[in-house]
Amino acid sequence: GPELLIADEPTASLDGASIEDFTEGLRLLQERHSTAALIATHDLGLVAALGARTFEFDGEGFVPGTNSLLQWPRADPGAVGAPVMSVRGLVKSYGSTEVLRGLDLAVHGGEVVAVVGPSGCGKSTLARILAGHLAADRGEITGGAGVQLLFQDAYASLTPHRTIRSLVDETRRRGFDTEQEAESLGLPAEKLTGRPAQLSGGERRRAALLRALSVEPSILVLDEPTASLDHQTAVMVMDMVMRVQRRRGLACLLITHDRSLATTQAHRVLSLVDGRLQ
Ligand code: ADP
Repeated sequence: GPELLIADEPTASLDGASIEDFTEGLRLLQERHSTAALIATHDLGLVAALGARTFEFDGEGFVPGTNSLLQWPRADPGAVGAPVMSVRGLVKSYGSTEVLRGLDLAVHGGEVVAVVGPSGCGKSTLARILAGHLAADRGEITGGAGVQLLFQDAYASLTPHRTIRSLVDETRRRGFDTEQEAESLGLPAEKLTGRPAQLSGGERRRAALLRALSVEPSILVLDEPTASLDHQTAVMVMDMVMRVQRRRGLACLLITHDRSLATTQAHRVLSLVDGRLQ
């Protein structure tokens, strides 16, 4: 129960989930012991997640930070159409732990719905069920056929020894123009002949998005799309996703623990509480 915790680059070399664990642990310390924390970091995503007061080094000393880098640029997700997916009474347990308890959800064409909640509340479970990667115990999903899941970890979702083009060829619908779509995502056509390991992190995210879009989905599920990215890259990734969303009138389910991301990008923000959406 220390009064003050000093942390020096606490998230250096941690992945997204561990960063969440750190912020959650710190929050508990604050709640239980009123511990104050002084954190030295270059990780603006962490600062945003903590909602901390900041001081920035201006070359000579520390001055109160503007936090201007921490704001998500507000997206305009465009108009909303008719319902494309409806979920009723979704129930899912792992052993005796009931994670989803009769969850209802409706998503409309072109609509961006954010699902927020703390680590462990069941967000990924919901994402995987909607994408058909995991079976629910009970419940009804209509219109779920056109759902594509964009994984948190773009690297893990792309088979390493295949070129981007062959990965997209495997999934793409006839009429999907791979070159043109790659270009409009800011992925130069010559990168299509590269393998995932030969691309930068940002390019890999574009390639993963290209592959998801090649199926011409009606709903894109984004599971923590900005996890483990620095804030600047995260802003770039969200900008790219929201441009595609707007251009195609795509419905998106944005799953995130970052409430400021949710409120700036989505038409509606739902909280996953006790296995249901509020
Ligand atoms: P979130 O995405 O909100 O962090 P998850 O959907 O990953 O939450 O997990 C919800 C709860 O279910 C957590 O308590 C987690 O430990 C548990 N859980 C997730 N996957 C499994 C699994 N395959 N087996 C057992 N428990 C799991």
